[in-house]
Amino acid sequence: MIPFNKPYFTGKETTYIEDAVKRGMISGNGYYTKKCQAYFQESFGFKKALLTTSCTDALEMCAMLANIQPGDEVIVPSYTFVSSALAFVRQGANVVFADSKKNHPNIDETKIEALITNKTKAIVVVHYAGIACNMDVIMAIANAHNLLVIEDAAQAISSKYNGKYLGSIGHMATFSFHETKNIISGEGGLLAINDDRFINRAEIIWEKGTNRAEFFRGEVNKYGWVDTGSSFLPSEIIAAFLWAQIENINVIQYKRLELWHHYNIALKEWAKTQSIQLMPEPKTETNNAHMFYLVCKSMGQRDAIINFLKSKHILSVFHYLSLHSSQYYKDKHDGRALPNSDKFSERLLRLPMFYELDVVEVVEALVSYKTS
Ligand SMILES: *Cc1c(COP(=O)(O)O)cnc(C)c1O
Repeated sequence: MIPFNKPYFTGKETTYIEDAVKRGMISGNGYYTKKCQAYFQESFGFKKALLTTSCTDALEMCAMLANIQPGDEVIVPSYTFVSSALAFVRQGANVVFADSKKNHPNIDETKIEALITNKTKAIVVVHYAGIACNMDVIMAIANAHNLLVIEDAAQAISSKYNGKYLGSIGHMATFSFHETKNIISGEGGLLAINDDRFINRAEIIWEKGTNRAEFFRGEVNKYGWVDTGSSFLPSEIIAAFLWAQIENINVIQYKRLELWHHYNIALKEWAKTQSIQLMPEPKTETNNAHMFYLVCKSMGQRDAIINFLKSKHILSVFHYLSLHSSQYYKDKHDGRALPNSDKFSERLLRLPMFYELDVVEVVEALVSYKTS
């Protein structure tokens, strides 16, 4: 059986976890946490990086930092993971769902401005499959209307837009190290802050509403409860694991890109004959090979391919039921149709993508499929 995903271990994870244990301090914000955070700040140009226990947690921190109040509006694409919207809804936001582009699941930047009202506080963008949204246009809209931009870069580690790393452009950004992502720690995430105004408060929210971080740096002489917050920081055991992945990030990315290009070349002719679109090869943005997907000509064709691959012991998956029509939000949605989001929801198919994948076997199976 070829699974859809298989976590890749570099071999150093348990070594660093053992080291963390030997250091005698395994709660958060210790040796490995600082090492990981420094790496992200230096390598990706984030002003401040804070490890979190998930990308969802990092998004919740963003909602708190943006000071979202009940009744505030936040613009979020409908074609995304639940957390991109949920984190803001927990603060009382009304989510105004935006549609995808016609030819890409990313938010259609040309339709954002029409969604802005005097209650809008923030725009959440999701760099789907690690491919950048049109950040120049989005940042210009946000600046013109005095809105915050939060990049949900869960899938976008190492990817760039106009020479800048994703996650370094918006006011804040979030990453995921869930085991389905490019670099992993089981569960895990990162908050990146690029606007100085939010750095101090981010540390406080991260540490249960206390000024513990400032206290340990000797910047204040008392440590206590100063703001809202929660326990968002992971233990040193998670950070030690993540460090082993970070050390190998270039090797991992190189391998994933090889697999991605193999799919892209080997499936081109077959896709044409089946009226299937391959994931567009990014031209101006970079590709981090987070995933390889197909856009089928219909839901029926997609289901048939999933079953066909399953019969060959290969697991492929679809995802993202449009959030605007989800059980939780459909009664709160303003009723606008979001046809592009629905199209990807019905027709997008993800092929297996992981470090140790036998891509030749998947391609061989897939090209033997013919739409009946
Ligand atoms: C994976 C993912 C998340 C959630 O990440 P967790 O670390 O599991 O919380 C959020 N948004 C997007 C776009 C994702 O792909």
